[in-house]
Amino acid sequence: MGKTAVYPGSFDPITNGHIDIINRGLRIFDKIIIAIGNNPAKAALFTVEERKEMIRGLIGDSDRLQVAEYSGLLVDFVAEVKAHAILRGLRAMSDFEYEFQLALMNRRLDRKIETVFLMTGSKWFYCNSRIIKEAASFGGSVRGMVPDDVLQRLKEKFPLLRDNNNRKRQQG
Ligand code: ADP
Repeated sequence: MGKTAVYPGSFDPITNGHIDIINRGLRIFDKIIIAIGNNPAKAALFTVEERKEMIRGLIGDSDRLQVAEYSGLLVDFVAEVKAHAILRGLRAMSDFEYEFQLALMNRRLDRKIETVFLMTGSKWFYCNSRIIKEAASFGGSVRGMVPDDVLQRLKEKFPLLRDNNNRKRQQG
């Protein structure tokens, strides 16, 4: 039986840092389910449907990768899809404390499920959806930090990002 991991997150939007974790996770697991947490209390830029669409466009038709949405307890979702592990990425120390607490809580809730951490690729240390959205909202270039399709979607949301790009093209 293959080993399946759930990679949970908000993916609002998916970044190249997330993609790096997914690609490296595929060397360890047979299948990864990218699970978008549907948390109505958390304000998001993209709807869950939009986030799913962007991820589907990136992963295509692969039987080793799947995208899903979950709400409620993560460990319940992991058990429901018969996965064995939770995959998480670690960037700075600031991630560590929260991730540590979360992993311990999830372990307490279901001891059969292990959390596996992958250290971020050095290129993606500062790649964070929240900071990307913030920069993009003020027209700062985030090219190279997100896939091209996601960049396009960000431009649709943030006119300043589109205008700045147009201006640069005209200058260059
Ligand atoms: P973010 O923290 O960027 O808003 P998510 O909440 O969607 O992203 O994070 C889902 C998981 O992916 C978390 O474990 C997070 O630490 C990890 N992750 C996010 N960005 C990166 C990155 N650049 N490198 C490694 N892991 C990352």
